[in-house]
Amino acid sequence: MDGPIVDQTPTLSLIVPVLNEEAAIAPFLDRSASALDRALELLASGATAEWVFVNDGSTDATEAVIAGRAARDTRVRLVNLSRNFGKEAALAAGIDHARGKAVIPIDVDLQDPPELIVEMVRAWLDGAQVVNARRSDRSSDAVVKRVTARWFYRLYNRLADHPIPENVGDFRLMDREAVEVIRRLGEHSRFNKGLFSWVGFDVATIDYQREARQSGQSKWPALRLWTLAIDGIVASSTVPLRIWTYLGAMIAIGAFSYAVFVILYTLTTGGDAPGYASIMVAVLFLGGLNMLALGVLGEYVGRIATEVRRRPLYVVSSTLGFQEDN
Ligand code: UDP
Ligand code: MG
Repeated sequence: MDGPIVDQTPTLSLIVPVLNEEAAIAPFLDRSASALDRALELLASGATAEWVFVNDGSTDATEAVIAGRAARDTRVRLVNLSRNFGKEAALAAGIDHARGKAVIPIDVDLQDPPELIVEMVRAWLDGAQVVNARRSDRSSDAVVKRVTARWFYRLYNRLADHPIPENVGDFRLMDREAVEVIRRLGEHSRFNKGLFSWVGFDVATIDYQREARQSGQSKWPALRLWTLAIDGIVASSTVPLRIWTYLGAMIAIGAFSYAVFVILYTLTTGGDAPGYASIMVAVLFLGGLNMLALGVLGEYVGRIATEVRRRPLYVVSSTLGFQEDN
């Protein structure tokens, strides 16, 4: 190869998971490029940036569009996954491939404004190791999504061992030190928000307005969000398992008191206790409760089964633009 060997370690890595986003890539690259230029001005001269796109099994021209840009711009890199693994796994793949001193996961649909990166870098230079971006306004989301999101954060923070900040998405800046901790977390079900906040470190928060998606449509159908919510809670809390001990104890105490009452009632009045309705209610109620508890147990056991298989989080089929590719 010709030319001197230069240190190709970038300062900033943008991690961009993409699933069928052919129309979104060019506008995203253009807008984030100018934001990155301004962010790099804050850093020492010689600071560079890279985009690590993770193609999460797209079936449209996403790969070709990125490859086209990578051919013209060596800062654009691409990791192709062998199929769709979901955004959480795609992010993990990006984090593993990024080499920047600071790493920023960002959505390609421009809902995370790239201009905020300048503020993030400023906070990073001021000493923060994690810079969260908080959506001060979710008016670009549908009402249902806003309400359910609020409920979720409330429930999660009540149950989880470690709370997550409300309305902070995956968009954030993480210092290499925090990134290395995240890479060591081996769990298969990746609830990134929970993992990201679990690592701790010095956290700064920046508020921003969430914009509407620029092109294409959301890749998160309601059912997938529901699964993510359950994943998040089960991965971060054992309270749902413990509830049943207390509930069972309460019901047992209630049943015992009722038994004492029935005995005394029969002894004093000699009357026969009428029964059918109350027995049915008690039997059905307890049967339902048992099944519910079993279901909760199943959630945890199922996840243990997934974890002990120890399959890789994602499978890379090819990469483009990384040093080892040359
Ligand atoms: N995404 C992905 N794999 C998936 C689903 C989504 O890589 O299985 C990417 C998607 O291309 C986008 C980002 O994750 O860059 C956020 O997705 P989306 O905008 O659909 O989510 P929303 O903003 O509606 O929560
Ligand atoms: Mg979006």
